[in-house]
Amino acid sequence: MINVSKLKKGIVIDHIKSGNGYKIFSQLGLDKLEDTVVLLKNIPSNKMGVKDLIKIENDIYLDLTVLGLIDSGVTINIIENGQKKEKIKLELPKKVYGILKCKNPRCISTIEDVGDIEFTLVNPSTKEYQCEYCHEKTKL
Ligand SMILES: [Zn+2]
Repeated sequence: MINVSKLKKGIVIDHIKSGNGYKIFSQLGLDKLEDTVVLLKNIPSNKMGVKDLIKIENDIYLDLTVLGLIDSGVTINIIENGQKKEKIKLELPKKVYGILKCKNPRCISTIEDVGDIEFTLVNPSTKEYQCEYCHEKTKL
């Protein structure tokens, strides 16, 4: 069992869909942190069957856009002095900058360095985003 209250200060990312824990771990660069980070996989959950969970023993900056993109169903608990200070619910970001890459080989963004591309959410159920240059749809 996970005992969140043991954590004095830090962040708990809960209700991660089983399998997404490692994706979040690597995409957010949590493996590079010097703080204690725990990734728990396939924890039994009443609501979800099984879930993943990440515990970070420090108050770090989290890129919520990246997090929402990978798994918008997660809950983020901010812990301070052993207490839950804040609970953040995520949603799928409407616009994403510089995280996604266009998969269209003829797109200007794959030929030239255009900097961060803006992608706009076009289909929330399939999590498809549209490239601002060629309007090709892409997913993470
Ligand atoms: Zn494109």
